[in-house]
Amino acid sequence: KQKIVIIGGGLAGSELAYQLAKAGFQITLYEMRPVKMTEAHETSYLGELLCSNSLKSESLDTAAGLLKKEMEMMDSLIIKVAKETRVPAGNALAVDREKFGKRITEILEGFDNISIIREEVQDIPDDRPCVVASGPLTSRVLSEKIKKLFGGGLFFYDAISPIVDAESIDYSKCFFKSRYGKGDDDYLNCPMTEEQFDRFYDALMKAEKVEFKEFEKEAIFEGCMPIEVMASRGKQTLLYGPMRPVGLEHPVTGEKYFAVVQLRKENREGTAYNIVGFQTKMRIGAQKEVFRLIPGLENAEFLRYGSIHRNTYVRSCDYLDSFFRYKNSLLFFAGQITGVEGYIESAATSLIISFFLKNYFADKKILPFPETTALGALSRYVSTPKKDYVPSNFHFGMLPPLTKKIRSKKDRKIALSKRALKDLEDYLVKNS
Ligand code: FAD
Repeated sequence: KQKIVIIGGGLAGSELAYQLAKAGFQITLYEMRPVKMTEAHETSYLGELLCSNSLKSESLDTAAGLLKKEMEMMDSLIIKVAKETRVPAGNALAVDREKFGKRITEILEGFDNISIIREEVQDIPDDRPCVVASGPLTSRVLSEKIKKLFGGGLFFYDAISPIVDAESIDYSKCFFKSRYGKGDDDYLNCPMTEEQFDRFYDALMKAEKVEFKEFEKEAIFEGCMPIEVMASRGKQTLLYGPMRPVGLEHPVTGEKYFAVVQLRKENREGTAYNIVGFQTKMRIGAQKEVFRLIPGLENAEFLRYGSIHRNTYVRSCDYLDSFFRYKNSLLFFAGQITGVEGYIESAATSLIISFFLKNYFADKKILPFPETTALGALSRYVSTPKKDYVPSNFHFGMLPPLTKKIRSKKDRKIALSKRALKDLEDYLVKNS
């Protein structure tokens, strides 16, 4: 049996172990938790979700919808288990975080040809093939070793949003509804008048924050920007961002609001709610004070406070090829550390690597994934040299335009998705 070493049992490492184990490879999967925890993980589960419990939209007019569909075509473990453990969230595929991690762990532990070693890897092993999937919170010692391979390293900081206990919410002040009534009323909305918003805004601006260090300031990733940083750009940034009221009129009275804060279920039972888009770097005392100004949250009990974390990635674009191979060797990098951004993108890199490895050891020649597919676009993004290399989610802008002009934005996206799915299907048939 062909042996493979995988470092890191997060989203990318778990997906890869599953794909290769199914194909008969002998896997050694190193995961340092629970012996050594990262700054953000809380359990010893393989494939633990760090922050949001959502894997985003399933609609084919969204980039996340297309990527998930492609992953499903390749029998992705992450998507399969997400569907098994899903909680209602409108068009989005959101999961019960606890059940999700537990199930991934059970499945991987069930393979005779996966040996899971709970240990911190401190160096890149000489055994090849080896895949480094140690994620954005790679342990310090290993990060240093990785940096050497990439002629220096990059890192920046990410923020996570608070979670409140469902029992501590005053439901008389809020209502259930998904924006524009799409989906099954999965969000709990806390509406605000202009006066309430102004009071909240002033408190947010005045609240005590943990100061950013000079080098962090520029590096905050726009997709996970702390609420107070958004607020500092002006009231409108909040009113067009996480507090936008459009499509959230009261379902019974039709009343319109000046601002609305949305809460999303953290688990299937609905015992905890995430304050959507409220990641923050405020001090804990300040978080309590400011967030309790939100109608309905006056007595909120916080199960988790917002915080900020290190997030590491390498300059893949100068070193990896479209199958995530380091300088043509059998050393691979997978997941967020390569500069893809997001849960599904991280797992998707492993589908590309496993596809390569299966064919490589079967002595088959393989061509890169088509550039019209989400998987192809991600692998091209990571492996194409560029001046400023910043982490990215998959988005439609990464795909070549359609040959035919389509006016409606939504229809154009659907057409891009259909083309991608057809091209992926053809590619898989030809290369399997
Ligand atoms: P991980 O899932 O982190 O897996 C890496 C694994 O390697 C971990 O289990 C770690 O314990 C292990 N490890 C590290 N070093 C070693 C070592 N030396 N030896 C052995 N094991 C090691 N994306 C989203 O789409 N939505 C979000 O809400 C979101 N929130 C995030 C919040 C934070 C705080 C961070 C840092 C990132 C977040 N991301 C989010 C981005 C990204 O999608 C996730 O980090 C995702 O888990 C990345 O998958 P991965 O497999 O690359 O890394």
